[in-house]
Amino acid sequence: MRGCPEQMNYLHFRISTTFSPMDCLVLRLVGALSSIAFASIPSSDARLARPHQPSKFSSHWPTAARDLLPNGPAGFRGLIYWLALSGDGAVASIFVRVFLLCRPSFYAELAEQSSRIILARAICSRLDSTAEQITGQDVPCLDPRISSTAQLLNLLVLFCGAEWPNWRCLFEGLEVELLASVFPAIAACGEAQIPVKLQLCRFASELYATLDDDAYDSMPATITNFIFDEQVSYGGCFRHFRDLLRWLTNRPGCAGPNCPKHAERKLQRSLCARCRLFYYCSKECQMEHWHLRPHPHKTVCRLLQRVLACAPPSLDPAQFAAACRAHGLGIEELSIIYSNVLGKRLLTFADEEAAQAEAFTTLSQMELLHEFDTAIRVESDRVFDIMDTLFELPLEHHISKLLCRYLLHRVDLASRKGTPS
Ligand SMILES: [Zn+2]
Ligand SMILES: [Zn+2]
Repeated sequence: MRGCPEQMNYLHFRISTTFSPMDCLVLRLVGALSSIAFASIPSSDARLARPHQPSKFSSHWPTAARDLLPNGPAGFRGLIYWLALSGDGAVASIFVRVFLLCRPSFYAELAEQSSRIILARAICSRLDSTAEQITGQDVPCLDPRISSTAQLLNLLVLFCGAEWPNWRCLFEGLEVELLASVFPAIAACGEAQIPVKLQLCRFASELYATLDDDAYDSMPATITNFIFDEQVSYGGCFRHFRDLLRWLTNRPGCAGPNCPKHAERKLQRSLCARCRLFYYCSKECQMEHWHLRPHPHKTVCRLLQRVLACAPPSLDPAQFAAACRAHGLGIEELSIIYSNVLGKRLLTFADEEAAQAEAFTTLSQMELLHEFDTAIRVESDRVFDIMDTLFELPLEHHISKLLCRYLLHRVDLASRKGTPS
């Protein structure tokens, strides 16, 4: 086995100089060889997170980048070339893994702007071609052609910290170009590709948040429309809220904040008598949750009871939103529950009040966009009131500008069609 790395390098050289990469037989051959290589390093993803831990496979081939590829520009560019062109899902996913395994030895390469452009364009071309392939197709399971690319993006972001001061400098100046490929790929993801869609959305929102005013101004309308359309099609904040209630309803264990039985399924438990949403293994756990600082259950228990009485989470998003609105449960009530129940998540910001204000702004924006979309369908005058309210929200300047562009686009679309979409 020890002789294999040189043979692999030789083969890699021969293949890349002799054959067209679209040659199916060659792809299969490389796929098979890469599978063997990859099978011997099954824990490579985990090792990426802890690069200094010795691998239990260290006595086998291959364990490091140098075992797989020639170091330096040839190895880097060769791999990127294959990454961009390989249309076969299994082979693409192997190349992504090999790329990630070799990443530390590519840092010298990635320090060069020209190499970063090559990487970003390879990712864009993969996203473009896979989005085209899966669009309109009812792919029944997770498609490896697109999932491998999403995984690459996610891992580049997640495991960058130790090696790069800031992963964003990897794609500096290329954000808009990447987003222009990421968004159509998100849109192409059907039911079976939901995990990929979420990964891509996470990457897009991270990247989106790094843009400056100029980049916002130069962003194509299709991207800005997509960003807001996603919020509308997701049902505004009511759908998020309904999903939160569903999640709470299905939580198996004890809701005691420090209870070790929080994930236990077969628990002898008692229900909060009022909201009937939280379970506890003991009176002590219940009291602890009731008085929990800074988010005591007692501040939302009655409110939750009210919501569940008129709008059970089993309703579909539109019915749920209508039921909430009919009972006077609006954005303020929802955001109180949000910040209480998801307190920890919202409070990753330094300042609690600022965090709650920000959460409130985001929720209001989603809610108003959803309302706007509903109102524009029936050509109601209400759309202009909603626009006014939207612009009064304490949004950042560039978000307001994007929002304005989006709303004008929707109004234009509705007026041109006669029958609004
Ligand atoms: Zn407990
Ligand atoms: Zn309760």
